Amino acid sequence: MERQTKYWIIRELDQKGQQAIEMAATLLKQQELIAFPTETVYGLGADATSEVAVAKIFAAKDRPADNPLIVHLADAEQIPNYVKQVTPIAKKLIHAFMPGPITVILPSSEAIAMNVTAGLNTVGIRIPDHPIARALLRAVNLPIAAPSANTSGRPSPTSAIHVFHDLNGKIAGIVDSAATEVGVESTVVDCTSDVPIILRPGGITREQIEDVTGVVTVDSTMDQQTDKPKAPGMKYTHYEPDMPLWLVDGTSDFFQQQVNRLSTQGLKVGVMGSEELISKLHVSNSSICGSKLNLDTIAVRLYDSLRSFKTNDTDIILGEVFPNEGIGQAIMNRLEKAASKIIKQS
Ligand code: AMP
Ligand code: MG
Repeated sequence: MERQTKYWIIRELDQKGQQAIEMAATLLKQQELIAFPTETVYGLGADATSEVAVAKIFAAKDRPADNPLIVHLADAEQIPNYVKQVTPIAKKLIHAFMPGPITVILPSSEAIAMNVTAGLNTVGIRIPDHPIARALLRAVNLPIAAPSANTSGRPSPTSAIHVFHDLNGKIAGIVDSAATEVGVESTVVDCTSDVPIILRPGGITREQIEDVTGVVTVDSTMDQQTDKPKAPGMKYTHYEPDMPLWLVDGTSDFFQQQVNRLSTQGLKVGVMGSEELISKLHVSNSSICGSKLNLDTIAVRLYDSLRSFKTNDTDIILGEVFPNEGIGQAIMNRLEKAASKIIKQS
């Protein structure tokens, strides 16, 4: 059902900005959906204590009901209100990285609606490091369930325009506060046992977590097509652009050969990669997503790049492969999920 979606542009928390925050908070309290910026990607928020409100998230995104949502809070002091126990590992991570791009999985309390956790007895908690997000969370004074504000399966939104494209007419409002700073989602860490387990790589790197906790495990089911990964969302298709994405793992000469080969077959080829790669290629349709020398810049532009190719001038995207270290682990996790094929140089 189409409806009028309100759209507020907030660049700072002046009086006008604060008024918009109040309006958005009121709608959240009335069990409506509001998209808002965080430092990772835009989130689609609903009152996490209301099953009715949370059900609207699944409907608007067309999200599978067995994929649990992350609960957002304004301040770490509120965490004990929504979990049964804050484990020692969680305490360390909260102290080191919150507010920030990390989600801790802990035993859920009854205060959280059943459909938030998709029936699991754990809940993911995150404190976003974004002034507008935190102002909204403070104003509403409720835990807010918020997955990425995109249609399920599409690249996550890193600007309010992406949200508008996917969800206009389906939600109560969009808070626009420029592009996000990190560009990939939070790192999801299971903190229910003695050793932290990374269920999804993200804005805080494995190396950063290791520095704080000594050891860390990475969920071995994460990158496999299995029915039962520990983070249920990891089994679904994700981040898909409007046309097939193939990753090319090799030198720039090898990359050029692939462009030429597919072009000769009559395909309109788009290339997505670093400025270092694209400056070496002869290709008319490309999207530069940052510099290979600073992978943070790639993370910031990754989803916008994926969304930038249009079906009228692109049949297939060829994407660059990045080093699987630091933030590169999150980048490659997303690219591998978005891609239907990897072409490796032998
Ligand atoms: P999204 O909010 O769309 O970025 O996705 C949230 C991710 O966190 C998905 O992969 C979920 O499966 C995962 N997640 C959320 N809550 C839990 C939980 N209680 N246990 C394990 N994974 C979770
Ligand atoms: Mg998502």
